[in-house]
Amino acid sequence: MSDCLFCKIIAGDIPANIVYQDDKILVFRDINPKADVHLLMVPKKHVESLAKLNESHHDLIAYMMLKLPELAEAQGLSSGFKTIINTGKEGGQEVFHLHIHLLGGKNLPGF
Ligand code: AMP
Repeated sequence: MSDCLFCKIIAGDIPANIVYQDDKILVFRDINPKADVHLLMVPKKHVESLAKLNESHHDLIAYMMLKLPELAEAQGLSSGFKTIINTGKEGGQEVFHLHIHLLGGKNLPGF
């Protein structure tokens, strides 16, 4: 998607503080962190939101979920972490490329 911010980050056209990547996902630090650790995990293939997932994304979303604890551990979040997926305008989604917020640390905000 040429006008998608996260697609531009994935393509390397916009810089980001990248924490992890492989052939399926990119993980980078949120530019406006809400906690000591605030990462965004995105699929490299554009998917608009959680609401747009279908059966073809089954393996991808399972892969993303299984990767989260591994990333949290690598960030030193052995005591716990929070994950958020904002979906759609009324769900607070601002960037329309599926992403999972991974938050943790001492300054973790409540829900
Ligand atoms: P959401 O409201 O769930 O769509 O979250 C979008 C997130 O993207 C927000 O937490 C923003 O701070 C973050 N964000 C926006 N632009 C950038 C960027 N260029 N690099 C990293 N994070 C960004």
